Amino acid sequence: MSSLDKDLELTKKYDKDYCMQVFAPMNVAFNKGKGVYLYDTDGRKYMDMIGGIAVNSLGHGNKELVRAVQNQAANLIHCSNYYYIPGRSELAFKLCRLSFADKVFFANSGAEANEAAIKLARGYFYYKGENRYEIISANMSFHGRTMGTIAATGQEKFRKAFAPNVPGFKYVDFNDFEQLKDAVNESTAAVMLELVQGESGVHPADKEYIKNVRRLCTEKGILLIIDEVQTGVGRTGRMFCYENYNISPDIMTLAKGLGGGVPIGACLCTNKVAEGFKVGDHGSTFGGNPLAMAAGNCVLDQIMDKDILHNVGAVSGVIFDQLQALKDKYPVITSVRGMGLLIGIEFDGTVSSGGMKEALFSKGFLVSAIGKSTIRIAPPLIISQAEAKKFCKALAEILKSQKKRPLQITAAGPSESKEQIKEEITKETGITISAVDENELE
Ligand code: PLP
Repeated sequence: MSSLDKDLELTKKYDKDYCMQVFAPMNVAFNKGKGVYLYDTDGRKYMDMIGGIAVNSLGHGNKELVRAVQNQAANLIHCSNYYYIPGRSELAFKLCRLSFADKVFFANSGAEANEAAIKLARGYFYYKGENRYEIISANMSFHGRTMGTIAATGQEKFRKAFAPNVPGFKYVDFNDFEQLKDAVNESTAAVMLELVQGESGVHPADKEYIKNVRRLCTEKGILLIIDEVQTGVGRTGRMFCYENYNISPDIMTLAKGLGGGVPIGACLCTNKVAEGFKVGDHGSTFGGNPLAMAAGNCVLDQIMDKDILHNVGAVSGVIFDQLQALKDKYPVITSVRGMGLLIGIEFDGTVSSGGMKEALFSKGFLVSAIGKSTIRIAPPLIISQAEAKKFCKALAEILKSQKKRPLQITAAGPSESKEQIKEEITKETGITISAVDENELE
């Protein structure tokens, strides 16, 4: 443990002085986790309802995962892709057995998995001798932060400072099949979608829409890329979210939950589509490394052996029931949506997402704020029903006190500065606000 590990103020100072300031962290640092709980540098306990943004699928300090990573680290952390890697062969086999896929490429993050998917789609048509390169994705989607994946992301705010952007991408409204159909032309190589748009407020795709998209892609020979970086590996109650839609994609990407916290990414496809990469066309120094593979194998084994998918369904049912009851009681909740353990709770203009996040934080619960009005939860998949109820109870308490004294958790008025809003919330609630109305930065 370094001297920073127990010292939040020093950590903040070093962060400010030495880290590029691309995040806006809350006023806290954690140095220990157990199950669904995290402990901060002062030893305070928090229920982690965001799970490292859908990453800590088995919770914190999972014994088997720790042992698998420790054993692998002791034996061999890294050896290059010049050689066969037993753990990589094993994880690829398991993923293919569990999914539609025949082949896997391993990367280190969601963005990298999506880069592989984009390249693969273009390579597939190149080797077929067809001039198809364009990828159609959805407005308000999120596919990552690399040059290729910001081009795929249907939100201009992620792209505009980094122009010229990678060409060959087009955006249509999510869940609008007619728009998508009209956007297809002879250059279209792929349609790239999330089944639940996580980063723009947890918006699930309509079942009919996805069925139509699949049919259209098949008819026109277009590849369907499903980005399951956030929804994959049990998050929605099925191993992969596409199973909820009774379709199968041509390419699927995974990351977050697959390593249980160890960085990993994966791009999966059918044998036919795998023709899009020949030897030397794609690669990664770290992708498929023994350490990440040990983690991925352990996560999949536990999800299967411990019937964790069943737990996701049961706990999800409890949370949705309780949130629906809260919505009926407190009209400030305007929407509760999502799937499995990826849930968005949207509020009207009297409650800001940043303020609600802070109010929950002050009660020892961690969530993320998306945009001005939605909080997102994506807890570890091993969360118990009792733990989930504790969260709903805390939310109910906040809503109850908010009802008594409206405007406690007020959204930003157009003329107010962030500092004024922070002061106002602190005055009203006694809660110190470290950030207001921010979009979580991933
Ligand atoms: N795709 C989706 C759907 C995501 O939610 C994210 C991250 O939030 C990404 C891609 C990018 O993943 P990473 O941050 O691991 O590069």
